[in-house]
Amino acid sequence: GIEDCLPNLDVGDAFEYLGPPSLTPNGVKANGHASIRAQSEEESARQNLTDILSGHNVLLKPSKSDGYAPWSLRYSGHQFGTWAGQLGDGRAISILETPHPNDPNLIYELQLKGAGRTPFSRSADGLAVLRSSIREYLGAEAAHALGIPTTRSLSLTLYPTLPVIRESPIPEKAAIVTRMAPSFIRIGNFEGVSHPPDSYSFSYVGQQDDDFEALRVLGEWVASRVLQLNLGPHKDGQPPAWGKELVFECARRNARMVAGWQVYGFMHGVMNTDNISILGLTIDYGPYAFMDVFNDGQICNHTDEGGRYAYKFQPTMIIYALRALLTSLGPLIGAEMELGHAVPKGWANDIPKDKLENWREDAMELKQELDEQILGLFGETYYSSMRKRLGLRRNVDSDPSQLIRPLLQLLERHELDFNSSFRTLTNFVPTSDVSNLEAFTTHLTPEYLISSETKRDDAKKDWVEWLQKFSKRIEDEKDDWDSSDDWLTTRKIEAKKSNPRFVLRQWVLEEVIKKVDEDYNEGKHILAKVLEMTSRPFESWGGEDASGPEEELSEEIREERR
Ligand code: AMP
Ligand code: MG
Ligand code: MG
Repeated sequence: GIEDCLPNLDVGDAFEYLGPPSLTPNGVKANGHASIRAQSEEESARQNLTDILSGHNVLLKPSKSDGYAPWSLRYSGHQFGTWAGQLGDGRAISILETPHPNDPNLIYELQLKGAGRTPFSRSADGLAVLRSSIREYLGAEAAHALGIPTTRSLSLTLYPTLPVIRESPIPEKAAIVTRMAPSFIRIGNFEGVSHPPDSYSFSYVGQQDDDFEALRVLGEWVASRVLQLNLGPHKDGQPPAWGKELVFECARRNARMVAGWQVYGFMHGVMNTDNISILGLTIDYGPYAFMDVFNDGQICNHTDEGGRYAYKFQPTMIIYALRALLTSLGPLIGAEMELGHAVPKGWANDIPKDKLENWREDAMELKQELDEQILGLFGETYYSSMRKRLGLRRNVDSDPSQLIRPLLQLLERHELDFNSSFRTLTNFVPTSDVSNLEAFTTHLTPEYLISSETKRDDAKKDWVEWLQKFSKRIEDEKDDWDSSDDWLTTRKIEAKKSNPRFVLRQWVLEEVIKKVDEDYNEGKHILAKVLEMTSRPFESWGGEDASGPEEELSEEIREERR
């Protein structure tokens, strides 16, 4: 069981436990919990915070110029490559914006996911089940700890008394994730105001017409406030164009993000255009999974029958999403190209539809440049991170074809674990002595993964061949390291910083969810421990040997692998 693998950590409660929210006569959400008299000032502050972060109370700032109340953002999108019209956000409510405590220029938006209905919930309840909220809560922190750009998790609130019905007829518990990001705006928000031309034949309830003025307002906000684009000087008294730069900046950020996914075997599972963030943050942790055994074609979403969002297609799917953004902003970008500067307020008021569509076509000529930028930056980021994972410093052109791809093919051929194999490789010491190489292959071919002796011997043979190349490659860059005798130790320490000892695997998530569902009081401690390991994945949890949390897979999953 998972408890046995976890070191006994002393961390605070990972989440709060509340009754269901209800509406008071004046419309503000409150519950019994909030009305219990606090014993001390500190307690009362904590209660206030809990109430706000769990949607039991709302912050209102009554000011005409910069006041706010909770808000939700409508969006549309392409789901599995098909235009789906308006579909969200029916269960996310933003509650406030606040500067980062250490960086006043960095603004964080706080958002509740699963706190109840919004104006865009349609017939749904706006709630989230416990299992999906735990998955999002931990998944986002796992990505962050691995250096993958992502929304962050702030808190988790369980509603044990508020059952919801989903896939199973048995009611499930509901829970809210309070998440943070500088912005939750996605490509789907742009598609919500400017639909692709091929969507005109569809008519969805609630779908509105194109609103090009809304497109301009949203775009200007995103360009200046969210992406903070540096657009250069005004020309002839006119503000600089921002449309193309918005799309390309979004592309660069998402290219770096998806590189991080590929480097650590993260599979998102639902890369619909409404789940692709303008800021290039991993957003919407649904059926995601971290890869165990390396398999290029792995699909983590059981509803994705065609494998559209399989691991190997993730970079391509980023390209698809960015093309959707280019399509949405197309009329405006085309107009900017013609004008040579930003479009003015009310720019599309009197322009005939076919002119707008011509502009969209002009903008679509940027498509190839967009694809190339994404692929170029993806490749650069991906290979430089993979070198780091191998403890290499020098950029050698032949690495992808001679070292990195052959390694992944080896893992796939012999059904070996992606992240564990890389962690094991951090302990490798280069040598030309074949018997030393052979000895090391024992660590790379654990019996719990390859039970047949013949298959193990086969894998070892391939490893020896690859390790010979790797040894040479490491020795070749000896001069790049500090000339002290112990450069190999330095190298090893460095490599461990890019190779997690703890990976938030499916079985870990399943066990945490089960424990919290069965018994909140016990479960919350396990959740807290998993969060701790998730947040510091590069530490030597359970030691470096094959008896740590990584290898102690539950019997069930071992059986599945065989
Ligand atoms: P997803 O497939 O998770 O990206 O969800 C897409 C959209 O479906 C969300 O933005 C919501 O608007 C809507 N949605 C999903 N679940 C619910 C729910 N329980 N209540 C209301 N809306 C939901
Ligand atoms: Mg979504
Ligand atoms: Mg989702």
